[in-house]
Formats: sequence, structure tokens, C-alpha cells
Amino acid sequence: MLLIQAFIWAAVGFIAGGLSYGLIQRRRFDRECRGLAEGSVSDPTGLAVGLRDVHDEHERRIHAVRREQTLSRRVAEERAVRARRALEGLEDPVIVLDADGTVAECNQAASVLGGRSEDPRTETMAIEDLLPSRVAAREIADLARGLCDVETEVVRRTFFTMVEGPDVRDFAVSLRRLDSTGRVLVVIHETTREREILRMKSEFVAKASHELRTPLSSIRATLEMLEEGDLEDETARSEMLGIASEEVDRLARLVDDMLDISRIEAGVARPRIQSVDLGGLAREVVDALRPAAERRSIELVSRRRDEDLVVEGDAEMLSTVITNLVGNAIKYVPEGERVVVEVAPDDLTRSVVVTVTDTGLGIPAEDLPRIFDKFYRIARYERKARGSGLGLDLCRNIVEEVHQGRIGVDSNLGEGARFWFGVPARHASSLAA
Ligand code: ADP
Repeated sequence: MLLIQAFIWAAVGFIAGGLSYGLIQRRRFDRECRGLAEGSVSDPTGLAVGLRDVHDEHERRIHAVRREQTLSRRVAEERAVRARRALEGLEDPVIVLDADGTVAECNQAASVLGGRSEDPRTETMAIEDLLPSRVAAREIADLARGLCDVETEVVRRTFFTMVEGPDVRDFAVSLRRLDSTGRVLVVIHETTREREILRMKSEFVAKASHELRTPLSSIRATLEMLEEGDLEDETARSEMLGIASEEVDRLARLVDDMLDISRIEAGVARPRIQSVDLGGLAREVVDALRPAAERRSIELVSRRRDEDLVVEGDAEMLSTVITNLVGNAIKYVPEGERVVVEVAPDDLTRSVVVTVTDTGLGIPAEDLPRIFDKFYRIARYERKARGSGLGLDLCRNIVEEVHQGRIGVDSNLGEGARFWFGVPARHASSLAA
């Protein structure tokens, strides 16, 4: 009986022991599972065998995720740096506005436009605080607000003008929504130069048409008179035909000058560069123009220094320059005056300088700055001689653009004029080298 009791107690004890061991193991297992879930297991060696594998797999995945996160962060950072660099590389002011209208990003050009030396990205500001034109800023802000719920492809445009002292600057603005957060990209492009080019183009067309119209009207009048039989008299007819022929020559010269100027300005002129003796060239021009000078009783003197007067240039173009300067002197000085053409080296600028000095009326101070402009003629001399006002502009283009030389005029009203131009001497580059 005692034995049976002892056996029962032993069995109960064994079962109780087994149960409590199982409970302890279960608790440990739960704890380890919780630890795994919370990621607080630092030493996996004490884990149950199955859990150790789970722990290792878990660690591997966490590691992979972290590596992926680091990689994506680096890619995002690299992208941001590149975007920033691209933004800074743009010459046009660029601004990114947040949905609430504050400036999220802007490049240096935008800061400069806003007259800010400090980086505006360091402060929170609205576009009104960045742009100097309040009206423009308000309009841009309004347009940006309107873009919040439209497609990203939609582009809104506006224009504004900034007055800085005597300068008026024009700008074109384009706005487009950047992303779903409602950010808006604002690109500002200055159009002042484009406007100026357009203005110059239409001015050129207007002046050119005016210049072309005068000889054309004269030719048309002659043709009409011939057609209607008004020129029966032989002398009158040949006189009118002579005038028409002169007008045709004038038209041809005008068209040639316009073409030459536009070719040089467009950079498509093909000069034939060779060694040119400017002394010899000037003498040839003077000889060719002597009859015209004599017709007006003008004394035409040619002087040249007995030195090397050779330049690298296009002989025909340089001859055109000397012809225009000497021709003008003969045209605009009163009869009986004197025109001197001199060619001499200038050691200081290492160039050969041609000077055409006359004893005529000179050039009024107010006309001096514009004398080399296209179609510019001094109003009070217009009746003295015919011309188009293109000659000096062509000279300036040939000297400065084709030969990298310099051209100018010194004059006082009533004391004649001294036109000059200098072209780099042939040996200048070899000396400089
Ligand atoms: P054009 O002679 O065909 O009118 P240019 O461009 O050669 O055109 O000259 C522009 C203007 O400069 C002339 O119309 C004239 O008024 C002025 N000019 C040029 N040379 C002289 C000069 N030697 N003396 C006075 N005025 C001059």
C-alpha cells in the first residue's frame, strides 16, 4: 500500500515537474519570440534551435532592407545634388514654389534678379519678397495658385517689365506644376535683347525701304515719261536716261552695301586675307578719286611714310574703307578745300593707320557718337551730297569685325574732320608670339 502511494506521489511529482518544465520552456519560448519581434535579441546563441534560424533570417532581411534604404538615400541625395547643380547652371532665374506660395528652391540667377546677396533658401519667403516687381510677383503667385489642381503638362505664361533707372528690362515667365504636392516651377527669361533685336530689325527694314524707294521712284518717273511719249526731245531724253542710270547704280551700291554689312554681321563674310601694302592701296584709291576731287576743285594730297606698311587683310575690303572715307571727304567739304590721306605705322598699337583729314565743315558734337550707325546722316549736310548713311557702318564692320582693327573720327564743328582707322601690322602677331 505504501509502495502504491509512493508510486502515485512520484508519478504526480513527475507530471507536475514535467508540466512546470513545459510551462517554463513555453514562457522562455514566448519571451524569445517577443524579443525577436521587438528586435531586442542581441545574442542569438541562447535561443531555441528553431528560433535561431528565424533570428538569422530576420537579421539577414533587416540587413538587406537597411542596405537598400542607405542606397536609396544616397541615390536621392545624389539626385538632389545633380538637380541643384543643374538649377544653378541655368542662366535664367528659376524658382520652385510650394503649394502655399512660399519659395522652396531658387537658383543664383533668381537671387541676383531679386537683388539679394544672401541665399533666399535660408529663409521662408513668398515670391513677392523675392522679385523686385511686386505686380509681377503677385501675378505669378496668382497663376501658381491656379495651377495647383491642373495637369502637370499645363503651362501658364506671363510677362513683366522692370525699370532700372534709364533701362527697361523685359521678362517672359512660364509656370508649370511640378508634382502632386502642388509645387510649381517658375522659369523667368529676359527678353530685353530679343526685343531690341526685333526693334533694330524693323528699324533697318523701314530705313532700307525708305532708301530704296527714292531711286525707285525716280526710275519709275523716267519710265512713265518714256512710255507716255513725254521725252520726244533727244537731249531731255538722254538727260533723263542718264539720271535713271545713275539711280540704278545707286540702288546697286545700296544693295551691295546692305549685303556686305549683313554678311559681316552674320559672320558669313569670306574675306580673302593676304599681305596688303596699305600705302600702295591708299595711293591707288587717291588716284582713282582724283578726277572727282578735281571736279570740285579739291586738293587731294597723299602722304605715306617710307616704312613697312603691310597688314594682313582683304585688299578689296580695305580699299572700300579708304574709298568711302576719301569719297566722303570729297563729298562733304566745300569746294576749294583740301583733303590729305596719310598712311603711317603706329608702334604703340602695332598697327598701320590710315588717316583722312579734311578742311571742311567738321562734324557737330551731337552727331559724333552716331556717325558710324546704320543709315545715320547729319541732317544739316543732307543737301550737300547724296548718300545712304551706310558707308561708315560698312567701314566700321570691315575694320573692326573682319580685321580686328579700330576706326574713329576726331572733329570740331567748323574745323574739318579727321577720320582714321588702324589695322594690326603684319609683324604684330610674330612679335607678340
Ligand atoms: P553717306 O555718305 O552715304 O551719307 P556715310 O555713312 O558714309 O553715309 O556717312 C554718314 C554721314 O556722315 C554723312 O551723311 C555725312 O553727314 C557725315 N560725314 C561723313 N564724312 C564726313 C566728312 N568728311 N565731313 C562732314 N561730314 C561727314
